[in-house]
Amino acid sequence: MKYNWSIIGHEKQLQQIEKDIESGNLSHAYLLVGSNSIGKHTVAKKLAGILQCENNFCHECATCIQVQKGSHLDTFELNDDGEAIKIEAVRGLIDRLSMTRQAQYKIVLIQSMERMTVEASNSFLKILEEPPTRTIFILTTNDIRLLLPTIVSRVRVLKFNPVSASYLTKKLHELYPDHNEEDIKQVSLFSLGRTGKAIHLMENPDALADYIKVYHDVQNFLDHKNIVDRFAYVESLSANPGKFSADSDKIDSFFNILKHVLRSKVLEGDPKSAKYINTLSKIDEAGILLKKNINPRLVLENLMLAL
Ligand SMILES: [Zn+2]
Repeated sequence: MKYNWSIIGHEKQLQQIEKDIESGNLSHAYLLVGSNSIGKHTVAKKLAGILQCENNFCHECATCIQVQKGSHLDTFELNDDGEAIKIEAVRGLIDRLSMTRQAQYKIVLIQSMERMTVEASNSFLKILEEPPTRTIFILTTNDIRLLLPTIVSRVRVLKFNPVSASYLTKKLHELYPDHNEEDIKQVSLFSLGRTGKAIHLMENPDALADYIKVYHDVQNFLDHKNIVDRFAYVESLSANPGKFSADSDKIDSFFNILKHVLRSKVLEGDPKSAKYINTLSKIDEAGILLKKNINPRLVLENLMLAL
């Protein structure tokens, strides 16, 4: 590849982006789609660096460092803080886009586009339709179905898929030669092919310990836990409801591991496969309800009844 992306996997997508740049066929708006922690935001930031750096994405110049830190004057970020993106934020963005540009481009990075309200989306749509010159939007989402179709139709979609466990294991060995075999094995299992998650787990032993616990809980549920225990577990997951965003990662991890375990059982030809496939679709529905800010405890309790 031409640029030093320093990213695990996603070669096809990165090559596509490089091809767009090289051929002068850069879209004014990209939408990077894929599950949480798969690396979309990292790719978005690096793409911004590639476009702004005048030195072949050197990682060393002031521009590269500012883009990376989020302090570059012509690279605007709306990062996921767990809150909805309201119309005021979009208006602020439009104001900033109208200011004089110093850099190569004006770049707008918006993380988790599904957070944008309908009102804000309609306002955003207008700048997507008639963007100021040399303005590039790099948007990410983990669920394209939650975006207005009119927005999706005006962006170039790049889908990010999980990398294989064997590839991830190999890469983690290269990146963390001093880590023990068992850690790498467990991280490859729990990150479910999501490279961002894998790196987070490698660098945060407490987070890995939490994952191991959730994994055992999920196994327990499916094997023999009774309904009372299941509800108690849901209670612990959705505790502290006032601060949903702080807990969303825990719930997300639970869903992901539950899906992983169920899929493995289906692949192994478990006699309860039909039931598990049904549960898998219910988990997806529950995930959508949670994003719509339906009470997480209610959603999880309903899911437990379906298990
Ligand atoms: Zn640079």
